[in-house]
Amino acid sequence: MARLFIPGPTDVDPEVLHAQNQPLISHRSPEFGDLIGRIQPKLRKVFNTNSRVLITASSGTGLQEAAARNGVSERLLVCVCGAFGERWYNVAESNGGQVDRLDSPWGEPNLPEQIVEALKMKTYDGLAVVHNETSTGVENPLKEIAAEVRRHFPDIILMVDAVSSAGGVELQVDGWDLDIVFTSSQKCFALPPGLAFAAVSDRALEKAARIPHRGWYFDFLLLDRYLKDNLTPATPALTLLYALDRQLDRMMAEGLSQRYSRHKAMANQVQEWVESRFDLFAAPKYRSKTVTAIRNTLSLRFEELNAYLSTNEMSIANGYGKLKDITFRIGHMGEISRTDVKKLLAEFDSFLSRPE
Ligand SMILES: *Cc1c(COP(=O)(O)O)cnc(C)c1O
Repeated sequence: MARLFIPGPTDVDPEVLHAQNQPLISHRSPEFGDLIGRIQPKLRKVFNTNSRVLITASSGTGLQEAAARNGVSERLLVCVCGAFGERWYNVAESNGGQVDRLDSPWGEPNLPEQIVEALKMKTYDGLAVVHNETSTGVENPLKEIAAEVRRHFPDIILMVDAVSSAGGVELQVDGWDLDIVFTSSQKCFALPPGLAFAAVSDRALEKAARIPHRGWYFDFLLLDRYLKDNLTPATPALTLLYALDRQLDRMMAEGLSQRYSRHKAMANQVQEWVESRFDLFAAPKYRSKTVTAIRNTLSLRFEELNAYLSTNEMSIANGYGKLKDITFRIGHMGEISRTDVKKLLAEFDSFLSRPE
């Protein structure tokens, strides 16, 4: 039964949790090589790529930083339409990069034509886009953005924060010609936090090779060189990798397209319910399939609502950053089913109709 209707961390299936409970092994042993050897092809399937998927012991933000350091040497444009785009801008700037931001109002997406116009203003060699903006519940039209950007800028390094979409929403790294696409373990992958994954194109690696001072822990070339031998440069988060191996099997067993349909169906279920009671924060046509941001039009006290839900061991998330209390969010990603969503919404309804 799902308990966490928040946009990460999400509930982890007991079988996957227990997969961590195995003896440790040396990360320089043949067994470790076998483990990475089993994981890598499955990870590539999730990202729809024939190139590599790097694995780090970090949360997704580590790879936001890695993308900014490995993927751009001149100037980066960061598309911002919420808190995670804003974070990426800050991350890139604090690493000393030349960086500009292209802002859309929160609740709206970043649109392909606006991005191309902005890219024409200066010489950019990198573009950063958040696929699914978790703070506002907006899914950016990534496929369309990539197509339009590639038409004008064939060599730009196109980097994507897919932290709250990968594994729950269609994502074609090769098909859409993306360069750096990363995610965290604790969102749609429904794993404990602590791992992050980045699909990295040959184009991105060639770019990285021309950039000095990429750092060491998140150096894509170093990570790639070790990955070729099914190794990691530093000590990996072993028990999380056991869980990842098991969870990828479960994801393959469900089927990726079934997984995408399940997330879409849950989004429809939640958003229809919201529309007859509140307002949705995200613009129509761009509503996220993994998280719904709700305008608090009834001025509910969030703590009261969550305390009520917690008597049934369920919880949802408050709004993020400046949207706290004026919105709240329901996460519908990972292991959650339509039946779980139905139960949550029924509880929410009983909260709304409770006697004063
Ligand atoms: C959760 C989230 C992040 C941050 O990921 P961490 O794993 O907490 O570092 C970044 N971007 C988006 C879109 C997210 O949803």
